[in-house]
Order: sequence, then C-alpha cells, then structure tokens
Amino acid sequence: MDLKIKEKYLLAGKIGKNALNYAQSLIEPGALFYDVAEKTEQYIKDNGAVPSFPVNLSINNEAAHYTPFEGDKKKFKTGDLVKVDLGAMVDGYMSDNATTVEVGNTGKYSDLIDATREALNAAIKILRPMVNIYRIGEEIENAIDAYGFKPVKNLGGHGINRYDLHSEIFIPNYNDGNDETIKTEKAIAIEPFASTGIGMIHNGPLGNIYIIDDTKVRDKNEMIYKNFNTIPFAERWLAKITPEYKKYINKTMQNRYVSGFPILKEHNKSMIAQSEHTILILNDEIIVTTK
Ligand code: MN
Ligand code: MN
Repeated sequence: MDLKIKEKYLLAGKIGKNALNYAQSLIEPGALFYDVAEKTEQYIKDNGAVPSFPVNLSINNEAAHYTPFEGDKKKFKTGDLVKVDLGAMVDGYMSDNATTVEVGNTGKYSDLIDATREALNAAIKILRPMVNIYRIGEEIENAIDAYGFKPVKNLGGHGINRYDLHSEIFIPNYNDGNDETIKTEKAIAIEPFASTGIGMIHNGPLGNIYIIDDTKVRDKNEMIYKNFNTIPFAERWLAKITPEYKKYINKTMQNRYVSGFPILKEHNKSMIAQSEHTILILNDEIIVTTK
C-alpha cells in the first residue's frame, strides 16, 4: 500500500478510536442523543477529519442506523444498551468502529458486550492474507455461542474503499461456507453483533440517515454531493445547510436520487450488543487502525 494512503488510514483510525472514547464519556442518564451525536461529530472535525457517516446511537433491540433527527429530544435512560458506531475520514480514507455502552453502568448485559469483544478479538487473531471468509465468521460464531447468545446472521463486516464504506466483501458473523479469501492491501471492518433474541434483524422505520445515489450525480454542484460527497449523511447535517431540508429530502427521495436507511432491529424483547474495528490487511502485516 502506498505509504501516504496507509498514513491516512492510520490517522482516520486514531481519530475514530478517540472519538469513540469521547462519545462514551458523554453518555449518561439524561443526556440528549442529539448532543452526544453533534459533539462527537464536532470532535472528529476538530481533530482534522470528517465523520465517515453520522454517529449511530442505536439502543436495546436496535442494532444500527439510528441517529438523532433535527430537534430530537430523546434522552438516554439508565439501563439503555447503546451501540455507538462511528468513523473518521481523511481524504476519503475511512475508519469505522463501534462499542456498546450500558447507560448508568447497571452491568446487566456485560456478558452480551463481552461476547462481542471476544468474538472480535478471536476473528482478528486469525487474520492473515488468504484466510477464508467463512473462517472469520466461524470464530465469531463460536465465541458468541460460548456465552449462550446468538450472532446476528444478517449483519456483518465489510470491505472499505476510498469514499465507499461498504465495498466488495461481506464478512459474516457465522460460518456461511464462503471459501473466498481475504484480499490483501485492503481495509476491512469486522463487526460482531450478539443478540439475546433470534439473531436476525429486520427493517424498522427510517433512522434519519440518508445516502445519495452516486450514479445519479451529474451536477458536481449538487448540494448534498458538494457537502458530503457520496458518504451517508444525517438530516441534522442538511438542516445546517438549508432551512428547506425536509422538503429537499422528500423531493430527492421521491426522485429516487436519495434513499433513507431504515433502523435495523430485532424483535422487541431482545437486546443487542456490537463491537467493531477497522483493519488493514497488508501483505506483510495486519494493522488494527482503531485499536
Ligand atoms: Mn460501524
Ligand atoms: Mn461497519
């Protein structure tokens, strides 16, 4: 990998890791989701990067894709199980990392959280050029099984390319039999999710995160593209650019120019934890950029 590109990935990883620690420090009973997301995104900018995507603050049976909307008054409550998922981007080179926080440190779901951390560590331990994809999933599944929980089967890790957060490969949280091998000189994210439920998520309502279809971007002055390139953006972000943000999102969604991400959730009584790191798979070394 070109040394300059590698350095950008490493910087994005370091800022992402520090931002995740910072976000965790802000989460307490009574804190606003809005403030945690906004302050953390500002932290990423103050440290010389931009967010890879809006800070996700998904709770309890939600696995991913909730970010506060403009004017959101939702507050964290004691016992909420919060997946904080965020990333930093330097010149298009991104990090993506996540951790799970129990609001008020009730300790009720520390096993569930530990299961995802151990699964992530076990998966990272076997990484090397030419390792089979299913082997990574197998490590994750075994670690989560050992705790008596279910890995979420329809979520997983992914390849990361410049300005492209989910590219090429899907890295399962179970042995899916995929004997393709990991490509080298690439960035990937591994993200085990463990559930007290059935281990399958479905689409809920929209979570205030949107993305522009880059095949439809012809006008480089287009407001969304100009401000956020092709990365996912939050309604909150657009609200800072135009007071007509709601109308603009509705119009562009109707034209299938922009699409919204639904909240990904398990059934009501289940709880979900997640851990995630970004890793560079190089010919001669494996580097966890967000450690
Ligand atoms: Mn993530
Ligand atoms: Mn990811």
